[in-house]
Amino acid sequence: MTTPARLSELATADDYDPDSMPVERARAHIRAFLTPVTTLERVHVRHAPGRVLGEDLVSPIHVPGHDNSAMDGWAVRHADLQPDADVTLQVAGTSFAGRPFEGSVAPGQAVRIFTGAVMPPGCDTVIMQERARAADGRVTLGGGAKPGQNRRRAGEDIRAGSTVLSGGQRLRAADAGLIASLGIGEITVFRRLRVAFFSTGDELVQIGTTPGRGQIYDSNRYTLHAMLTGLGCEVLDMGVIRDDPAAVELAFAQAAAAADVVLTSGGASVGDADYVKQILDRLGEVLFWKIAMKPGRPLAFGRIGNTHLFGLPGNPVAVMVTFYQFVREALLVLMGQSQVPPCPTFKATLASPLKKAPGRVEFQRGILAPAEGGWSVALTGEQGSNILSSMSRANCFVVLPTECGNLAPGALVDVQPFEGIL
Ligand code: AMP
Ligand code: MG
Repeated sequence: MTTPARLSELATADDYDPDSMPVERARAHIRAFLTPVTTLERVHVRHAPGRVLGEDLVSPIHVPGHDNSAMDGWAVRHADLQPDADVTLQVAGTSFAGRPFEGSVAPGQAVRIFTGAVMPPGCDTVIMQERARAADGRVTLGGGAKPGQNRRRAGEDIRAGSTVLSGGQRLRAADAGLIASLGIGEITVFRRLRVAFFSTGDELVQIGTTPGRGQIYDSNRYTLHAMLTGLGCEVLDMGVIRDDPAAVELAFAQAAAAADVVLTSGGASVGDADYVKQILDRLGEVLFWKIAMKPGRPLAFGRIGNTHLFGLPGNPVAVMVTFYQFVREALLVLMGQSQVPPCPTFKATLASPLKKAPGRVEFQRGILAPAEGGWSVALTGEQGSNILSSMSRANCFVVLPTECGNLAPGALVDVQPFEGIL
């Protein structure tokens, strides 16, 4: 697949079919047209998690800073020990964590030492306290210790001058601790991504009002808000926009002026698409795809000026599926993350029968549970793209490839868990 310079040139590629766009190809097209943020800002290490590091972070120090003990015990010169017999050494003093033994240790002497305490000069080995008997200023130690046993080396975690974290890396809890362990209080990160979103549809009403006949509450803005803030985006909720060309055009123009990314839901399907398409053709460059997937068939992607645009389908499950299958990865790239690994996918045994017609990829909703020898997955029931409760009950997507048809219990299927540990 070659990448043209302009989005509109895609349409001339031989293998480009907007009416049946494979999931992988849509992902690749989107990825080729993303321009990540470049503005940097400084934040306190406490606010590091979820942010993307803007430059390599080099350690100014060794961690740990000194050789120290991995055990409560006795620091000794290994040369004073016997391979297979006890020895008795004279006690020279004590090294506490944070309060090192400052004296010198002569041959034939040992120092009482605690976990994390600096190794006294001359000592290279620690005998754990369970293998020692101390009395009257002397200590008797068992034989058989290896040289360097129970000693942690200076710099064994991190060496001074080494690159600890790379620019473009999304930071997690361990990284906050790691940065703090270097004594660094502020780091350089990419500024947060601003994402504006609105819902379209005459049938939509706000919570707090009473829906009339045929009206429904707008739920998509709440899932979008949650998914976006979960990724660490700054959000701009623009509310519900009526199915009125002038109102939709104004909303797109305002959103594009205010944000790096515009997300809309509804109005991207056939029928609505025509007037939305005319508006977007005036404002920028947008392509409408029918993705070969279920749910989430209609998807618009493009740019208005420097702002990226995703027009998601209206059905609530389709919004979430397209968000997780396309938008999430794109947002992470736009935030400055240099490598976005694919969602972890593994095999689970189907616990209930599954209906599927060959021809497109399906993302059904499943409940993953530990089973003997591995994991089993049951479907959440009715799989309509309007059934948001099925998404709420689910804890994974069941990813079914294009050619797959109906499956019986016992079949192995690919699952993508919604949550990991971190
Ligand atoms: P559309 O893509 O506009 O044709 O919408 C497809 C379906 O999704 C219709 O049943 C809409 O009523 C529904 N829908 C659209 N937007 C929302 C929304 N924000 N919240 C809940 N349902 C919606
Ligand atoms: Mg609509």
